[in-house]
Amino acid sequence: MRIVRTIEHLRQLLREPRRKGQKIGFVPTMGYLHEGHLSLIRRAVKECSVCVVSIYVNPKQFGVREDLSRYPRDIKHDATMIEKENVDILFIPSDNVIYPNGYLTYIDVEKISDLLCGKYRPGHFRGVATIVAKLLNIVLPDVMYLGQKDAQQAVILKQMALDLNFSVCVHVLPTVREKDGLAASSRNVYLSKDQRAQAPVLYRALKSAANHIKAGERRASYLNGLISRMIRQYSDGNIQYVACVDAGTLKPLKTLKGQVLIALSVLFGKIRLIDNVIVSIKNQGKF
Ligand code: AMP
Repeated sequence: MRIVRTIEHLRQLLREPRRKGQKIGFVPTMGYLHEGHLSLIRRAVKECSVCVVSIYVNPKQFGVREDLSRYPRDIKHDATMIEKENVDILFIPSDNVIYPNGYLTYIDVEKISDLLCGKYRPGHFRGVATIVAKLLNIVLPDVMYLGQKDAQQAVILKQMALDLNFSVCVHVLPTVREKDGLAASSRNVYLSKDQRAQAPVLYRALKSAANHIKAGERRASYLNGLISRMIRQYSDGNIQYVACVDAGTLKPLKTLKGQVLIALSVLFGKIRLIDNVIVSIKNQGKF
């Protein structure tokens, strides 16, 4: 595996595979890798001739009250982990490489960046879209792999790729969970023992809502209430939002239909956990 820190070096390494028409897969991450990241990396290695992984904790996607300096980092451990997965190139740029002095350009995917998590993290998705646009221009991959765990991010980045004519396929892979159902996340290490024991209620509540939908429930307000009650009953978590939205457009739904994303964000102390499920509603008609 080559560890690369500059854009020039990365471009030079990719010139030959690109000339030969080899498929280039790309997995952008902020590091502190876990099984969720590894599932994306494994798929990229399997499906592509060349796999590029980036690790960059992007300051532009952290709000002023969000502690960028506390984001967990362990590059050495990450590098050892992904070397075992046969990754070809690990790109670890510094802030100077990504945002040199005088940097002025940002990508704003309107409307859908202000919903759900965006309401609680102003500017977050502007930062995410900007860094991913830059990384796509640097790597020029054929396929980019993202996780369903960050459902809104995936919808926004797909929209960005479409709107800005990025020549990349975006593959979104299922959420990887711990044994007790908690979605794998770099932030889980910051949960206290009690919080960690309570956190699986998020997925239990989402699954319970999905079961109610299978049994015929279609009212978003009922399902949001059910999920919120479960979370309040079984945890000290502070709910930011619980929402049933169209999985493709993120538009809020009153009555469920089509592909429904049930998404939530809950604060355990300062730790923000997100999770979601997608439920497909087949029998839309009454007859
Ligand atoms: P991050 O390092 O948190 O920016 O995440 C990098 C990529 O890994 C994103 O596409 C995430 O959606 C994805 N990811 C994070 N956690 C999981 C998970 N539990 N399962 C699947 N993908 C994940």
